[in-house]
Amino acid sequence: MSSLFFQISSLFYMGLIAFIYFKKQKYDTIENRIYTVLIGITFVTLIVDMASVSVGLVNPESVLANPLCKFYLICIIDWVITFTYYIFIISSRKNPGHIKITENKNLPYFKQLMWIFIIILLIVSLLIYILPLYIFSDHKKMYTYGPSAVFGYSIAAICIFIWLGCLFSNIKKIKDKKYLPAFSFIALGGISAFIQSTFPDILLITSSAVFITVLTYFTIENPDVKMIEELNLARIQAEKANNAKTEFLSNMSHEIRTPLNAITGFSQALKEETDLPNRIKEDVDDILMASESLLEIVNGVLDISKIEANKLEIINNNYNPYKMFNDLTTLTKVRIGEKPIELIVKIDETIPKVLYGDHTRVKQVILNILTNAAKYTKEGQIIFKVDSLIKGEICRLIVSVEDTGIGIKRDKIDKLFDKFKRLDEDHDTTIEGTGLGLAITKKLVQLMYGELVVQSIYGKGSKFTVSIDQKIAPSDVKLEDTMEVSREDLAKDEDIIGKKVLVVDDNKLNIKVATRLLEEYGITVESCLSGAECLEKVKSIKYDLIFMDDMMPKMSGTKTFHKLKEDPNFNIPVVVLTANAIAGMEEKYLGEGFNSYLSKPIERKALDNVINKYLNNQ
Ligand code: ADP
Repeated sequence: MSSLFFQISSLFYMGLIAFIYFKKQKYDTIENRIYTVLIGITFVTLIVDMASVSVGLVNPESVLANPLCKFYLICIIDWVITFTYYIFIISSRKNPGHIKITENKNLPYFKQLMWIFIIILLIVSLLIYILPLYIFSDHKKMYTYGPSAVFGYSIAAICIFIWLGCLFSNIKKIKDKKYLPAFSFIALGGISAFIQSTFPDILLITSSAVFITVLTYFTIENPDVKMIEELNLARIQAEKANNAKTEFLSNMSHEIRTPLNAITGFSQALKEETDLPNRIKEDVDDILMASESLLEIVNGVLDISKIEANKLEIINNNYNPYKMFNDLTTLTKVRIGEKPIELIVKIDETIPKVLYGDHTRVKQVILNILTNAAKYTKEGQIIFKVDSLIKGEICRLIVSVEDTGIGIKRDKIDKLFDKFKRLDEDHDTTIEGTGLGLAITKKLVQLMYGELVVQSIYGKGSKFTVSIDQKIAPSDVKLEDTMEVSREDLAKDEDIIGKKVLVVDDNKLNIKVATRLLEEYGITVESCLSGAECLEKVKSIKYDLIFMDDMMPKMSGTKTFHKLKEDPNFNIPVVVLTANAIAGMEEKYLGEGFNSYLSKPIERKALDNVINKYLNNQ
């Protein structure tokens, strides 16, 4: 009775496992194929076991008893051989069980092996069937003996030796959970042999086989886990590719900025020359405009790649919003140029003097819609209006830009924010642009938890409204003095004339540009091409200011700076002057301890401020 109880519960568990296993989506691996065979054999074994025990116990003389007992023996030995084959296959792989049959380069080898396995299975089964088997039964307990049983058990013993061989040859991977069923079977085999020798009426062999088959299910390649693993792998690969793209683009940005630095630097220097004919001055202005557009494109591509890689960060700082609006007005006027457009500026004067937010990004957003208004308006007016809504410590900036330009068709408004999409209605390719501006603007506004609303009447004009919340800085926060300085004043300043400045840069052209620009202030400029040279020079000459490039071979600017700082008496201000100008770099360099940060191409105004700050004693 007890055996019947074991058999029925085994049948129930096997049914459950088989149902789950066959219902799941599976990969076609050798491992899965063998496991399918194992499930089949386990089922047959269970049923034959139940039949043979029932028949044998009721009537051992029945004509069915002997063939059924032989068939049971065949099943159980076939199960052991199949399980041995499974252990052999997972041990013979570098990465147990993770090879797809369809991708398997060793397929012919595994196919041959499969045939050998089938032949062994058939021969063993045949011999067990041919050899005589005797049944002992007293209606309470029943067991079999004779040549057939001896042969079957010998084969099982050989199989156990093969497993042990497999386990020992893979001793390093012994902890792999795939070997757990093999260990369990050895342990269970021992326990069941012991129990059965004491209580011969409890037949545990089949239940042990069922238990191992169920256990193997949990160690076999789990299709769901495998799929999650593959998805993860795909995600990691996509991230890697995206990172590689971002890195490539930031390298490109660095590389483009270097020659651009020379173009803008020399053009700016040329522009300062007083005795140039007007025609050349105009050409220089055009070169400067073109360089600025190029820089805008480089920055745009960089921003979009960072947005795609989810790497665009919002970096908050205290800033003066009035200075920002002022800069924006100046830049828009330059953009409008000679066009008959009136720029009307209305700034709400209740906006606090110091706000806390990412002013670079806020400025970028507003500048983009102002630039678009200037670009897509032929004549009329542009109203640049800033309102505010103050609630507690938050100031909501509501910026609207209204133009009397070409307008946007109602059905095209949705497509405005698609990257690289230009609503080139009349194929008016004379207006330059990349179609990136609004895609970036929208993303930036989202990142700052703001809102962007577009209203437009085709042919009449458009209105873009952006609202962004900024924190109000505490009243005791004082911003660094950012008073505008005039270059003429600086150039005449007795304090500045004759000051000694060192420019460190591995690129000779960059040194030439910096020297040319700095000499205009009457400064004595010296230069060197490496960090090591800089360390030497500083030992013997007292400089008033050092401009340091960062990306230099052997010793980077940052490393050189830290070496300089090792001397406790070193007190020369060091300004990092770098083409490494992606967002967040300024904060990074200031965090390293540099006194100020200047990006290439050098902006004249920023340079004026640096000169004024470090070389003007007053
Ligand atoms: P770009 O200006 O570089 O083409 P944007 O992303 O800034 O790219 O703008 C996308 C498109 O939206 C523009 O090509 C233009 O067709 C349209 N657009 C943007 N602003 C305006 C505006 N103020 N008036 C009319 N059309 C505009």
